Amino acid sequence: MDIKLYKFLNNANNKTPKNVLVIGVIHGDEPVGEFLIEEYLKNKERTIKNNLYYIPRLNFSNKRKNKCNVDINRNFSTKNWELTKKDDDYFGGLEPNSEIETKFLVNLTNEIKFDVIITIHTPYKIINYDGINNPITIPLAKKISEFLDYPTEADIGYPTPGSMGTYYGVERNIPIITIECDENAEPKELYKKFKNLFEYIEKEF
Ligand SMILES: [Zn+2]
Repeated sequence: MDIKLYKFLNNANNKTPKNVLVIGVIHGDEPVGEFLIEEYLKNKERTIKNNLYYIPRLNFSNKRKNKCNVDINRNFSTKNWELTKKDDDYFGGLEPNSEIETKFLVNLTNEIKFDVIITIHTPYKIINYDGINNPITIPLAKKISEFLDYPTEADIGYPTPGSMGTYYGVERNIPIITIECDENAEPKELYKKFKNLFEYIEKEF
């Protein structure tokens, strides 16, 4: 399966649009992000003041790791990347940036300077964020927290070597917000909240 990237450029004569990337399904067993993004993109008539890039599904396997048995969110070439056992749930590959999904994102983010990256996961019911030295990060995390009714949490509680949060947020100071949805939430109910969030980042943020 090819990774799909949908691009919507500012159509409101905004002279200083922000570049925002929204990514679903980094872990294959957390599928709700694809539904939320695809549902939103059905709405074709939108006024957009920022430049929005949506990847509904990054990982086409149906388990946490990708089809090559690598956790994409441990495969980024961070300073703290580490080699673990292959059967580990968080195995980050034999070397960093080995996976097509990781390379796809790294190429994209080398080509376009993103002001914000938002990723959609389950199941922790928190808004996690990295890139705290960027003034956008914490206010945006709080705003997202209001839309979704999950608390913000700067530290997810366990080390994440090779993660996107470390690669983009900690090491490159790009605000990256990791939304951890309730895995038991009814997707259509969750979408009502995400619709408001997506509209906000397209128009008001
Ligand atoms: Zn996840």
